[in-house]
Amino acid sequence: MSTLGNIQTQAEEVVARCRTLSLFSEDSRSIRRTFLSPPMRDCHRELAKWLVAAGAEVTLDAAGNLRAFYAATESRAPRLLFGSHLDTVPNAGAYDGVLGVILAVALLESLEGRRLPFGIEVVAFSEEEGVRFATPFIGSRALVGRLDKQFLNCQDRNGISIRNAIENFGLNPAEIPHAMIRQDTLAYLEFHIEQGPVLDSLKQPLGAVEAIAGQTRMEFVFVGHANHAGTTPMEFRRDAISAAAEWILAVERSAQKDPGLVATVGQIEAKPGATNVIAGQARVSLDLRHRSDEIRVRAAAALRGLAEEIVERRGLTLRTSELLNQRAVEMDKFLVGEIDNAMRSVGCQAHRMVSGAGHDAMILAEKVPAAMIFLRTPGGISHDPAESVRTEDVAKAIECGLHLLEQLASSSEFQKRMCRA
Ligand SMILES: [Zn+2]
Repeated sequence: MSTLGNIQTQAEEVVARCRTLSLFSEDSRSIRRTFLSPPMRDCHRELAKWLVAAGAEVTLDAAGNLRAFYAATESRAPRLLFGSHLDTVPNAGAYDGVLGVILAVALLESLEGRRLPFGIEVVAFSEEEGVRFATPFIGSRALVGRLDKQFLNCQDRNGISIRNAIENFGLNPAEIPHAMIRQDTLAYLEFHIEQGPVLDSLKQPLGAVEAIAGQTRMEFVFVGHANHAGTTPMEFRRDAISAAAEWILAVERSAQKDPGLVATVGQIEAKPGATNVIAGQARVSLDLRHRSDEIRVRAAAALRGLAEEIVERRGLTLRTSELLNQRAVEMDKFLVGEIDNAMRSVGCQAHRMVSGAGHDAMILAEKVPAAMIFLRTPGGISHDPAESVRTEDVAKAIECGLHLLEQLASSSEFQKRMCRA
């Protein structure tokens, strides 16, 4: 087992490896690595080298996920999954997704060939961000059997379908069903940077994710009358932008009053969009997230009611449409409790949190108990070249992961789960 000095060296190596993989990019001056783009091959080559050296057997599934298996003491033992994604957004940082994969590699290395009562499978997902096909989780969907034929027909901007992209990478889409996780999969665990400011503000290196928030996305169209900005006195106006503005501020106020609720209006489009014309129409977006589906759905209805009240008072009309209604996902309570214990064992507070962003763990949770460990993100900055991670936090994550493996290996609850698997 690794000593603390070793762990510090290992953490430095983890950070260096993330930097190495960040060199494999579709863009020459920034990081962009979308689903099965050529630089993904370079990532696979490097990762496979490290994984094989750690004693794992490496394969590539038909959805382009790199899978590495580190065998248990017994060949028929069930397996525990660790994973995260290798794809990035455009102009990305070096740690979102990649860090979770490399940390899993580091855990295997720390075992130094020692076998556990369960096998460990490391999964490096091919796609999570949804950049190339405007739809996320291509990699993890394959593991839960949700990469169906219709989904494979989604096309990127160049008219290349997911199916074509898989074939062009030298893989066979007909083999996607074999990418499904095995029946004897015990759980899925994921390390990921927090991508927010909470742990940094609390000065905590790690956090245990209890739930991934559900999301509502809606479009609100405020319809008034376009008219001359000079000749229409204020009392004669049906100004769509003013109505939308009144509502937008009310959205912010109502989310501030509701703990755990985050509400964002990220887009406004006004028509006709001229300085000397009163806006006849304002189209605005709403993104609403909460860990409780009930609170989220109630908040969406209340905000719609508020918009109706505003348009009625101002003599306008309103059109709304719901674009997404995604349920919240609870992480496995037993695993979260074990993560708490592992965090305490390494001298951290067992801080629990809700993830406002979607992650592969959310998809895996459909089939197996899942949980996540967040690492502090300095300045809360992510999806940006300035994204970073502290080496000492990476060391804590490795230490915490090793404790977690030890705990699970000796836990009677986990043994029961192993017998059922
Ligand atoms: Zn990510």
